[in-house]
Amino acid sequence: MTASSEDVLTARELYRFYRAGEEETLALRGVSLTVRRGETVAVVGPSGAGKSTLLACLAGLDEPSGGEVRVNGVRISHRPETERARLRAQHIGVLLQSRNLLAHLSLRDNVRLPQRTGGRRPAIPARKLLDQVGLGERAHALPRQLSGGELARAGLAVALANAPDVLLADEPTGELDGATERLVLTMLRERATQGCAVLIVTHSAEAVRIADRVIELDDGRATDPPATADRALRQETHDVIG
Ligand code: ADP
Repeated sequence: MTASSEDVLTARELYRFYRAGEEETLALRGVSLTVRRGETVAVVGPSGAGKSTLLACLAGLDEPSGGEVRVNGVRISHRPETERARLRAQHIGVLLQSRNLLAHLSLRDNVRLPQRTGGRRPAIPARKLLDQVGLGERAHALPRQLSGGELARAGLAVALANAPDVLLADEPTGELDGATERLVLTMLRERATQGCAVLIVTHSAEAVRIADRVIELDDGRATDPPATADRALRQETHDVIG
């Protein structure tokens, strides 16, 4: 793999073993991938294929047993947890369905929290970010006062709090109705257009359709078809399905 300045997120030969007693699971078996600036990549695969493990390693939430993850050329893997957390706060937005909102904080404070951890002056004030996802009027609401669609948009505002270079989303539309799903996907695409590298772990056909590229994970291994052939194939499939 040749590195280019457009390669924002790179994973090289990622391995992740889990050991429980005598039993060993190989969740990732040498996964390499690149997501470029402005690109949206969908990661698909059956349950147990290693998708969540991959996302956690890419986000620096988990440590791969082997291989490395780099963001803008800076290695994020194989560092102490505090350093990984700092790098994550500065460069990576993580969208985990509604799980990235703290229940006792208002929406505004939920967005401000990662901005403080990031240690940089926020690129966008919390209120403006909430305006951008259509929740400006709800800045003082608590998560439990929101509808499912509002929660999804609030989660996105939190993920975008530090204007990340990389946006990682784990099943961001899994529990949403069709209209909210399209809204969230449109917002993710917009981020990519603005220069972010976006990676979405998904089962959604709609998310696969809007992606520039699809990476298939199976039993801890990735297949990454060439972008152009892949796009053409999906366009054909889309045309056939209508
Ligand atoms: P997916 O997200 O594609 O469903 P996962 O990444 O959750 O797949 O899991 C991949 C494999 O790793 C599965 O066999 C799963 O049982 C195993 N696994 C995941 N997390 C752990 C863990 N904390 N301890 C042991 N095995 C795990």
